[in-house]
Amino acid sequence: MPSPETALLIIGAGPFGLAMAAHAGELGIDHVVVGRSMSFWGEHMPAGMMLRSGCDWHLDPAEHDTIERFLATRGQRAANVEPLPLSLYLEYAAWFEATKGIRRRRSPPRTGRGSGRSSTASRPTRDGIAESRRPSARRWTRASGRRAG
Ligand SMILES: Cc1cc2nc3c(=O)[nH]c(=O)nc-3n(C[C@H](O)[C@H](O)[C@H](O)COP(=O)(O)OP(=O)(O)OC[C@H]3O[C@@H](n4cnc5c(N)ncnc54)[C@H](O)[C@@H]3O)c2cc1C
Repeated sequence: MPSPETALLIIGAGPFGLAMAAHAGELGIDHVVVGRSMSFWGEHMPAGMMLRSGCDWHLDPAEHDTIERFLATRGQRAANVEPLPLSLYLEYAAWFEATKGIRRRRSPPRTGRGSGRSSTASRPTRDGIAESRRPSARRWTRASGRRAG
């Protein structure tokens, strides 16, 4: 189980949460990410949507694990996939999370009195916890501040 204490609590595992987790990992900052990965994108964006942004709008402040790098692992190039489909962007986000070592941990469903929700409810819960305590793999030289999505 994650420690109840952390130097950095990141609430929400959307693009900014994942980018911040990656950045904290690069800096060797102990952190915990609370929330299900990319749930807003995966559950509330229109299926089949094409992104406004291109492949240069990636998640990595270190400019390493970019969308282009992800595509290269599949033998693809930006020019072949733009406009970027939502499904591909979600695949990139999952790859990014795995590559950066942002581990996801799902706690048991909350049941019983006071939980406010049934264990059999079909609506999404917010029980997921993504946690990363990976020590810094390389030195970080600058913050790009690049926005994701
Ligand atoms: C239809 C549409 C199309 C878009 N297209 C693009 C595009 O092509 N390119 C682009 O750059 N941007 C696009 N955007 C904008 C983009 O969605 C946002 O800029 C981006 O999602 C912001 O990232 P975020 O991590 O701040 O927030 P979010 O993506 O909203 O992520 C925040 C996460 O935190 C979770 N959360 C919130 N509260 C809690 C809590 N208390 N506990 C646990 N989890 C919590 C949420 O469920 C969510 O998963 C689009 C937006 C919409 C609506």
